[in-house]
Amino acid sequence: MVCTIGHSNRPIEDFIGLLWTNEVAKVIDVRTIPRSRHNPQFNLDSLPASLAAAGIDYLHMPGLGGLRHAQVASPNTGWHNASFRGYADYMQSAGFAQNVDQVVELAQSQRCALMCAEAVPWRCHRSMIADALLVRGVRVEDIIGPHGRKPHVLTSFAKVEGLHLTYPPPAFGSDADARDRHDRQQWRCPNRGARQTGIDPTEARAGPHMSAATRPREPIVITASQDLEALLTKARSCRVCEAHLPLGPRPVLRASASARILVVGQAPGVRVHASGIPWDDPSGDRLRAWTGLDKLRFYDEAEVAIIPMGFCYPGRGRGGDLPPRRECAPLWLDQLLARLPQIELTLLIGLHAQRHFLGRRRRGSLTETVRTWREFAPVYFPLPHPSARNTPWFQRNPWFEQDLLPALSQRIAAFGMRGESP
Ligand code: SF4
Repeated sequence: MVCTIGHSNRPIEDFIGLLWTNEVAKVIDVRTIPRSRHNPQFNLDSLPASLAAAGIDYLHMPGLGGLRHAQVASPNTGWHNASFRGYADYMQSAGFAQNVDQVVELAQSQRCALMCAEAVPWRCHRSMIADALLVRGVRVEDIIGPHGRKPHVLTSFAKVEGLHLTYPPPAFGSDADARDRHDRQQWRCPNRGARQTGIDPTEARAGPHMSAATRPREPIVITASQDLEALLTKARSCRVCEAHLPLGPRPVLRASASARILVVGQAPGVRVHASGIPWDDPSGDRLRAWTGLDKLRFYDEAEVAIIPMGFCYPGRGRGGDLPPRRECAPLWLDQLLARLPQIELTLLIGLHAQRHFLGRRRRGSLTETVRTWREFAPVYFPLPHPSARNTPWFQRNPWFEQDLLPALSQRIAAFGMRGESP
């Protein structure tokens, strides 16, 4: 695992405290110019000594620094922002690959943190280095503050071919909202000394999603699919929380590297545990009705990935089924997401999925998060669980059926995969 961190304007003591909290043993400085006029504690002539005194190694890797210029015939015009396009062009070079491979090697013996200046990961070129690490099978987590880390998710419009990453141009269609958000990517990594407009990281990732209706469907060579298969096999044989599972481990999930829609629920119920088929119950029937997909399309792995927050039936408590096992998502979920580069739409069913994917953007309650669904669409649709137990909720919140469901159905229809029931 590799962490990322932005030093920002933190006092050096706070910065070191964060590194200690996250058990970082080596800081890899990915600033081209390891100097900060306003924060001299992070200059090359002082930072290594401060870190050494705290027992933390330091390595400057200018080969991963920014300040790269975009090529005229850039294959990475998915980035409107010249800084990021330039860096993406540099990522095609052997020099970049060598440096990333060196990080992979270093990370095998100690926990490393990629450090740049910008506090927010998605505003920084280190998020692109994180992409390159992800496709090499390295888990990456962004240190986001004293409260913890957030797994890095592959940039949504990244095209993965083996270890080769590009950011091709999105074929925008009627999805003006997505284009608008993409155009708001005015920021530049501070390693280039520029500024940004404030948008949420998940929005930034969402921006370049292309319209499903207009997206070219040429076959994409994703050798990562073999990687995904291997990971699915491992996940399906997981027994980590066996001692806590009343019916024993039976991970129920399905995914393919070509999937464009992701359904993230909570955890299988008894019936799904027995059949091994996700959403194979009345709740699933209702969910399919919401999406407008029949069973044939809903279970088409090439298009729809179904991954719950907890893969196994967790048992029953006083108020119904227990929440998903906490062990599961950190172990598997983000690794799987990194291998699903084509996902354009994610249905977030229930509190746990919304908490994981929306982070601080989530509202104080599930109802409020769902009510503000427009803020997350078209990339995410937060939903309540479609269980019959929630019927009173559906009745109390008529806007859900009147506004959200038609929009969801329309969004899914744009994928052009509706069909008759078999
Ligand atoms: S719930 Fe997840 S972590 Fe626990 S045994 Fe099942 S697959 Fe493994």
